[in-house]
Amino acid sequence: HPSLSKVLVVCTISGGGLVAYSDVRRPFSGVYADAAQPTIKKKKLVVLGTGWAGTSFLKNLKDPSLDIQVVSPSNYFAFTPLLPSVTVGTVEARSVVEPIRNIVRKKNLDVGFKEAECFKIDTVNQKVHCKSTQKTNSGGNEEFTVDYDYLVIAMGARANTFNTPGVIENAHFLKEVEDALRIRRSIIDCFERASLPSTSEEEKKRILHFVVVGGGPTGVEFAAELHDFLYEDLTNLYPDLKKYMMITLLEAGDHILNMFDKRITAFAEEKFKRDGIEVKTGSMVVKVTDKSISLKERSTGESKNLPYGMVVWSTGIGTRPVIIDFMKQIGQGNRRVMATDEWLRVEGVPNVYAIGDCATINQRRVLEDISAIFSKADKNKNGKLNVEDFTGVINDIVERYPQVELHLKSKKMKNFVQLLQSNQDSAAKQTTQLDIEKFKSALSEVDSKMKSLPPTAQVAAQQGEYLAKCFNKMKECDENPEGPLRFRDSGRHRFKPFRYKHLGQFAPLGGEQTAAQLPGDWVSIGHSTQWLWYSVYASKLVSWRTRFLVIGDWARRFVFGRDSSRI
Ligand code: FAD
Repeated sequence: HPSLSKVLVVCTISGGGLVAYSDVRRPFSGVYADAAQPTIKKKKLVVLGTGWAGTSFLKNLKDPSLDIQVVSPSNYFAFTPLLPSVTVGTVEARSVVEPIRNIVRKKNLDVGFKEAECFKIDTVNQKVHCKSTQKTNSGGNEEFTVDYDYLVIAMGARANTFNTPGVIENAHFLKEVEDALRIRRSIIDCFERASLPSTSEEEKKRILHFVVVGGGPTGVEFAAELHDFLYEDLTNLYPDLKKYMMITLLEAGDHILNMFDKRITAFAEEKFKRDGIEVKTGSMVVKVTDKSISLKERSTGESKNLPYGMVVWSTGIGTRPVIIDFMKQIGQGNRRVMATDEWLRVEGVPNVYAIGDCATINQRRVLEDISAIFSKADKNKNGKLNVEDFTGVINDIVERYPQVELHLKSKKMKNFVQLLQSNQDSAAKQTTQLDIEKFKSALSEVDSKMKSLPPTAQVAAQQGEYLAKCFNKMKECDENPEGPLRFRDSGRHRFKPFRYKHLGQFAPLGGEQTAAQLPGDWVSIGHSTQWLWYSVYASKLVSWRTRFLVIGDWARRFVFGRDSSRI
């Protein structure tokens, strides 16, 4: 009954007499035996962050023997791939978020949630120090600590400014739901300001110049959404301002979407040109003031000033200060990103795991291991292996390090594998000798490409699911410490290493057109791919509630257009 402050539950289990006791004002923190019985204490699992990685972990966790505490400044999960749509009102903010308490509300799991930010991780005393996001009566933010036996860090990353002066003060980021809402308001502000009678022609031109910095998937998708909003909706409402509107996309590299297939890059650049979005490649932003952006052309070194009305900064991600501090503590201070092994354990600290954008699998160690596999195969072969030896080495590497498989598609590697294949088919199969150096040089290309997995929702969600499955089996493994045969050698974890499965990537380009790069280098571009995008994203939404809301928003937009009220 809600009016009862204490709940006493007597559980009758075989062997009898266990009492579960909980004070509803405090999080349930364990199961205690009555005086006659030995205490059964639940292991404390603390999860930091409720983004893609943390939520996927919690959704897949099934072990009721854990006392789980979740700490995050957001009491919801946000479906980030739809944030660019939120910036222009194609989709409403509330349609892409789901309360975290709804997600973790599972009958047999003991989960507590604290809306707070972790500001320090103390691995010596196994505690995390947190600060509430809510103000107390005295006006400050309450600080508290949470003990852990296992810690899962899933705090994501922050926007990277490369220390460019003026970015934090003047640019918008597109990382969180609040950012998307701020951008939406700012776009309308620009139009209303430009409509005022006192605004000069020159000012109108400046105010309605929208600049996007960063030609990656997020920057490109935002530019496309903005273009549709401006030319499908706002031109009808502000017809006099149409001639002043302009969108510029700045990219420091030679092309936009350079992580995609060349066909997609070319299509996107061509489409943006047709749409009137100015794409400036090879342009480095060196400073941002409240009204202009200073650029430096990479090829000529020439400097330029670009007046603007609103700028959105989307140039990738950087490590959060709390993680930098933690890395210094654990001897990873010389790294840019926190390193884990392939089982997602933070290197050098027991019982601490890191998933999602806040960490990366340490590939240097992987490569050392690959080298060792290779040397073993090369033993007594004087640098020459036959086709079978090579096939064995490749199979061994791919089985152990599936990430490598992704990069077997690199050009050098493709040529090499083709050569291997043709030799395998030839009559000289057993005797053909292949130069080990060729394989090594192919591997060096793999080396440079497999530095890290991409910081995407796909990787984060798969890591969360993988780690939850490990936790679900942890008890069973503790009872059978030998583990599966393959992992019995010393130093090996008892589970199979994390294996990332790439399911493809979308790049929405506006005007109901999307590009998709699907597994097997399959490229699809156009209106039909947009429908594929609608169906994939609708199916990936975290709940039926959000699915219903998002599909409703899409339908509303088709019928009535986007809402331009400034609320
Ligand atoms: P996040 O999802 O960022 O979650 C981090 C969590 O940690 C949040 O809940 C945050 O509140 C919490 N947190 C932060 N600081 C603290 C702290 N001090 N203490 C405790 N908790 C903390 N990826 C794709 O695969 N496909 C896409 O189409 C795609 N589109 C994107 C569009 C946009 C606009 C953005 C910004 C990203 C997009 N991504 C996409 C990338 C994807 O969102 C990220 O890779 C993914 O969110 C990473 O998941 P994460 O759990 O590591 O971090």
